[in-house]
This record gives sequence, C-alpha cells and structure tokens, in this order.
Amino acid sequence: ADWSAAVSTIHELAPTGRVLLICHVNPDGDALGSMLGFALGLCRLGVTQLQATFPGEFEIPEPFTALPGVDLLVPESQAWEDPDLVLVFDVAAESRLGALIDRLPRARATVVLDHHASNTGFGGIQLVDPTAAATSVVAEELLKRLDVPLDVQIAECLYVALATDTGSFRFDMTTPRVHEMAARLIATGLRPGEISRRIFDSRPFGAMKLFADVLGRAQLDPTAAGGHGMVWTYATLDDLERHAQRPYVLDALIDPVRCVAEVDVSVVVKQLSEGVWAVSLRSKGAVDVSAVAIKLGGGGHRLAAGFTGYGRPGDVVTSVRDELEKHLIR
Ligand code: 5GP
Ligand code: MN
Ligand code: MN
Repeated sequence: ADWSAAVSTIHELAPTGRVLLICHVNPDGDALGSMLGFALGLCRLGVTQLQATFPGEFEIPEPFTALPGVDLLVPESQAWEDPDLVLVFDVAAESRLGALIDRLPRARATVVLDHHASNTGFGGIQLVDPTAAATSVVAEELLKRLDVPLDVQIAECLYVALATDTGSFRFDMTTPRVHEMAARLIATGLRPGEISRRIFDSRPFGAMKLFADVLGRAQLDPTAAGGHGMVWTYATLDDLERHAQRPYVLDALIDPVRCVAEVDVSVVVKQLSEGVWAVSLRSKGAVDVSAVAIKLGGGGHRLAAGFTGYGRPGDVVTSVRDELEKHLIR
C-alpha cells in the first residue's frame, strides 16, 4: 500500500481543491461507513469542498440515514464533473462505479481504499489490503497517518462499517486487530447496542412478511458443490411491490438463508429488472465463491461474493451450480 503517496496527495490537493468521495453501487455499511467516516475526518482537517456520492438511484437505505456525515451525500447527477481529488471506497472493480467512473480520469489524482482480494487494480494510488476485514480498517489507518484524531462521529461511521463486514464480529476475519480497532472506536463514547439495533435489528413489518414469502420458496440442493450442498431462493420486483418494500431491505435476506445447517453454499437471487438479477453468494468454507462470482462477471471475497445474472432465477442458479464444482477449496 502506497501510504506516503496517499498522504502527500491529500495534503497537496484537499485543502484548496474539490474532493469527491465515491463508494460502490447499492452501498452497504462498509461502503457508506468508511466513506462518511473519512469525509468527516477531512472536515476536521479543514477541507471545505467535499462531496460524497454513489452510483445509481439516490436512495440511502433507511438504516444508514442517521449516520453522521450523511448530509455530505449528493446524488451522482450533482457530483462535480471535474473534481481535483477522487477517493474511492470499498470498490473491487470499475463496474461497481457505474457512470461515476468518468470522474477518475478527470481528477488530478485518485486514491482507492479497499480490501477485496479480487480488486482489479484500477485508479491511481492504491491502498488495497486484502487482510483488512473492512475498508474502514484502511480508512482508519489513513486518518491516523493524516493526524486526524478519532471522534465519536467518525468512530460511529467506521464502527458501522467494521460491524457490517465482520457480520457483527462473528466471521473468521474477526482478528485481534479487528477487536483492537473496535476498542478504539468504542472508547470515543459510541453506543454499540444502539447502533446495532438501528443498523441490523430493525426492519418494517412488511419486510418481515416479504422475507416469509421468499424464505418459504427456498430450495435445498444437497448434491451441489461436490456434495457440500446449496440452498437458494429468489425475490422478484413483484414480491417487493406486494409488500410495499424497497429493494435494499433484501440485502439482509442472505443472513437467514446462510444459516441453513445442511449445506455449505447459500444463494439469493434478487430481481433488478426484467431478466436481470443481483446474486449474493455465501460459503461456509468448502467453496471459494469469489472465484465463482468472478467467472460469472462479479467479484467479492472467498466466503461472500456476488454478480449480476440474466434470464430466469433457475437459469442463474444453474450457472452457479455448474461453477461451484470447479472452485472447491482443497
Ligand atoms: P452482497 O451479497 O452482500 O451484495 O455482496 C457480497 C460481496 O460480493 C461484497 O464484498 C461485494 O463487494 C461483492 N459483490 C456483490 N455483487 C457484486 C458484483 O456484481 N460485482 C462485484 N465485482 N462484486 C460484487
Ligand atoms: Mn461493500
Ligand atoms: Mn467491504
């Protein structure tokens, strides 16, 4: 990681230039949390021309609307056409930047903060650490190198990011380093219980009924993935409409599905438009699902990955089933 290049570039361009922060499409807790936490850090440095944005429809998932720094967010249509400095958060591949990709060549410098092993190496200065549990780990390190002290607002953003990507400190990447960072963040005075309730344990009644429908049609495929097994389900735009729910509520749907004890791999296929589906893949360790996702045009991590699929849900799942056999770990 090129820390010194990142620090000197930020010192050179940020105080007087226009700084545009971008995270990935369909932003999750790590994308928004690492980006807004870093944005607040730049505010503390006295940076005044600051915008944060993400590609696609300008809809902030309800759980994140109360994040500190959320007022720095602007729709992509309002993001500066020619920023001086672009900072990119939690983006493994250029395809995840949508139309905002055109800001990168127009800026005087780009710094990429990320933690995906599948990162394609786009952008100018790369701070990509595949051993980091979340992009917010990289963001915290860069803030430290910029001599920005943590405060409770920055900490809340970085904590939401860290808690999101570690599954609330349950996944294997929950290392001593992760808990040490969490300790630093909590020491600023933030309230972990309150934040967790708001981010993870709160959803509309209609979303629960929607989950009931979608979980009710889940299918078990014990012979998939070389006998390690797969469980899958799908959600359509009609499901969302019937229960008057927004698409982002489905981001949490993979969690009950991946708990199924009989199998290793879980798959949730979510309709984006006619014949177009966002696919979430999870593994308990038998399969490298990022390899599967990369083969199907996406990316991610060994045990959590995704891609865009086409056709009917059954066709998408068949393409996954075919690839699973090829990427068994060991
Ligand atoms: P999720 O299933 O929570 O949407 O995504 C899990 C992981 O896969 C995340 O790390 C995310 O960055 C990655 N991912 C999900 N969808 C895509 C995709 O369409 N393209 C790429 N490159 N990565 C994806
Ligand atoms: Mn993410
Ligand atoms: Mn992440």
